[in-house]
Amino acid sequence: MATATASKISAKLPEAKNVGSALDQAMNAGKGILRLSPTWVPRSFLHPGKRVRLHPDDYYSYGLNRGGIDERWFASTTEAANEGRVPDEGLSWCVFDGQRFMLRDAVAEGGAKLVGQSIWDHFKKWPVYSKFFDNMGPIPHHMHQSFADAKLVGQEGKPESYYFPPQYNNCDNNFPYTFMGLEPGTTKADVRRCLENWNKGDNGIIDLAKAYRLERGTGWLIPPGVLHAPGSLLTYEPQWGSDVFAMFQSLVEGREVPWSLLVKDMPKEKHHDLDFIIGQLDWEKNVDTHYKESNFLRPILDEKRSAPGVHDRWIVYGHVDGKQLFSAKELTLEPGAKITVKDAGASGWITVQGEGKVGVHDVATPTLIRFGQMTADELFISADAAAAGYTVENTGPGPLVSLRYFGPDVHSDLPKHGRHA
Ligand SMILES: [Zn+2]
Repeated sequence: MATATASKISAKLPEAKNVGSALDQAMNAGKGILRLSPTWVPRSFLHPGKRVRLHPDDYYSYGLNRGGIDERWFASTTEAANEGRVPDEGLSWCVFDGQRFMLRDAVAEGGAKLVGQSIWDHFKKWPVYSKFFDNMGPIPHHMHQSFADAKLVGQEGKPESYYFPPQYNNCDNNFPYTFMGLEPGTTKADVRRCLENWNKGDNGIIDLAKAYRLERGTGWLIPPGVLHAPGSLLTYEPQWGSDVFAMFQSLVEGREVPWSLLVKDMPKEKHHDLDFIIGQLDWEKNVDTHYKESNFLRPILDEKRSAPGVHDRWIVYGHVDGKQLFSAKELTLEPGAKITVKDAGASGWITVQGEGKVGVHDVATPTLIRFGQMTADELFISADAAAAGYTVENTGPGPLVSLRYFGPDVHSDLPKHGRHA
């Protein structure tokens, strides 16, 4: 089968000399759908959860000093903000006919054809991405700056969202609970004390928060400025294309978190201004008395776009600060099922279970991936292909399941979430 052969091919192919013509050929042959190779990202301060299906020998392929690989990024034109990074870290490659070219360059060449007219007019890029985040334990209570606060250091804000795919969560790892926000009644003085105590050991910020058990097959919205300490389920994370953050917890599982990771995306002159630092928290949202109701996401079946044997579910939906910034769906086809999918915008696609065909492309879910090798599970569905409609067919013995995420302001019928639903 073609997909079996594809998995043996190295993803480190020669780079196309002319991206424009390579893109044209790939778009013509792929009927507007591009095949992508896996994009692996290491993190020096984290402990890989080992559920991303990398070969066990390959978790430190960037070198021990760079940390283990615990993220795979999807349809990304966003660079990973890691120290000591390789030049293409975080960036997705399109693969076609023995050559490769960056999705970022493809978007620059193809513009509206790839990302859609409105996204191209507003952003001149693909402004979102998604990833699998796979960690063994919890990570520090942190937040991502709002657009206004990130702008102070020339960056963009980073609202994000979570979904816990059952297929990639065969085990819980060390702590499948996520602390979110701050216990209602918490005062700014309480948080200030934690920052003052940074160097004394555990600064106690977690004592001010509440954890929620993570439930496979559900998700959360994480607005900017809201504290969260992600637990250890593997997480699919559609988000805005930015890597800003501020860590508010000084000690996690015995590992110290330097003050520099609290202030990394704040203006230099404010690095010891505690009121300024606390001022970047969205206070109301952190102490929300109905936090779960405001932010929890349970999948909603899109009945209009489902059919017998086919379920298309909204897994990430709703607005962040009044805006539709990203969204995601989970498409499930029973064996033998086939459907024509029409979407209102481009999407990044990852197959998480089974095998089949998406347009002219074979797709198959890998069980074990060598670092630097090709898979047949990831695609970029261009805006043109999404508008024209593309067929998805399950050719395997079990369900075919995929996740796909969308950019801003794409859907006119995106479900609302929380108290607005
Ligand atoms: Zn985060």
